Amino acid sequence: MITKPKGTVDIMGDDSLLWEYVNNVVNTMMKYYNYEYIRTPIFESSELFHRTVGESSDIVRKETYDFKDKGDRDITLRPEGTAGVVRSYIENKLYAEPDIKKYYYNGTMYRYERPQTGRLREFTQFGVEVLGSNDPLIDAEVISLQYNILSALNIENLQVSINSLGDAESRNSYRDALVKYFTPHIDELCEDCKERLKTNPLRILDCKVDKDSEILKNAPKTIDYLNKESKDRFDKVLKYLDILEVDYEVDPSIVRGLDYYDHTVFEIYTLDNNDGSQSALGAGGRYNKLIKELDGPDSYGIGFACGMDRIINELKKMDLYKDIKKEIEVYVMYVSEEEKLHAIDIVQSLRLNGVVCETNTLEKGLKGQFKEADRLNTKLLVILNDEDLKKGLVNVKDNATKEETKVDISEVVDYIIGNL
Ligand code: AMP
Repeated sequence: MITKPKGTVDIMGDDSLLWEYVNNVVNTMMKYYNYEYIRTPIFESSELFHRTVGESSDIVRKETYDFKDKGDRDITLRPEGTAGVVRSYIENKLYAEPDIKKYYYNGTMYRYERPQTGRLREFTQFGVEVLGSNDPLIDAEVISLQYNILSALNIENLQVSINSLGDAESRNSYRDALVKYFTPHIDELCEDCKERLKTNPLRILDCKVDKDSEILKNAPKTIDYLNKESKDRFDKVLKYLDILEVDYEVDPSIVRGLDYYDHTVFEIYTLDNNDGSQSALGAGGRYNKLIKELDGPDSYGIGFACGMDRIINELKKMDLYKDIKKEIEVYVMYVSEEEKLHAIDIVQSLRLNGVVCETNTLEKGLKGQFKEADRLNTKLLVILNDEDLKKGLVNVKDNATKEETKVDISEVVDYIIGNL
């Protein structure tokens, strides 16, 4: 038997109903906020991720799926969504259009991680990228959109942690402060962090190994190194978030290790009521330098990404979603071949009139068809028999009240639509 690759999932049955439900909520909220759907390739040239996510990041160093295609090109399966969207923005010269670009995506990402709960090698993220505006209101909008999607899904105990890395000047002075602080402690850091001290000291603060050490806890805080302009900007973001009623806390330890972030960075968690553990559902930040680094003009960008698989796992823990069931509006039942011909016609008319409809395709007898209709939580049954058909009639039965009505076959679609 061939099995699926490690760290991947098959989504089906009740899970797929939840996926559909979440997708609908996401799509609806994106529309309310006026975000446009964008789809970029699942694979891109490797250089794109090396230049954006950064050579020294864990994602690029250890976790990308890289391969050569048959034309000997270096290809990478996308590990995240931002790089592709920004590449597309530049390649299609969208920056030349006068309006702000607000995009959302929803698709699979690939990271060669050690599979464990909440950590897959193929996973799905939905997210947004807003290009062309540096208004702090956009930072607040993006955060509130992420927050409100998760709230609309009834996820409780949401916690937004937010921080600012400031502009290039602030970030550089912070970087210098970190090097000065960590250098005397270098022997106490993990092997990766020793390397990070040389390549990108901000990443030390993201370290999963050293995260609880006193050295990390007492490290300098970004907030103390923001220049006035960056501090004022951050204060505005927080003020707007207050008006938008987003529950947030400023957490100076959030630095988001990727090379491309500046100014606002944020993460969103839910806290488990039982054991108090945190589950990261999404994260994001502003990346004003990135567009220029990818050979575009000076412009502005900010985005977030949320992990669908983790969100679904959260919903599965909630009673509210235990009852999501497959529902069929109408099941059309028949026995003889003559009845079947009418069934085919009725099913087709109902479907084309927007009624969710099913019929017997497993050669079941009537008893089996009743059972199947119950299993599908069917509301109305259309029961065909030769005798009634000869008089141009069909039986429509309410599956809850068991009430049965004879209806003229030419009016059955209207009758059903009126009774659903
Ligand atoms: P990141 O792109 O690493 O900032 O991740 C954003 C969100 O994507 C996280 O908060 C998770 O919900 C989700 N995510 C990231 N990596 C994985 C993974 N390997 N498996 C499942 N979900 C992931």
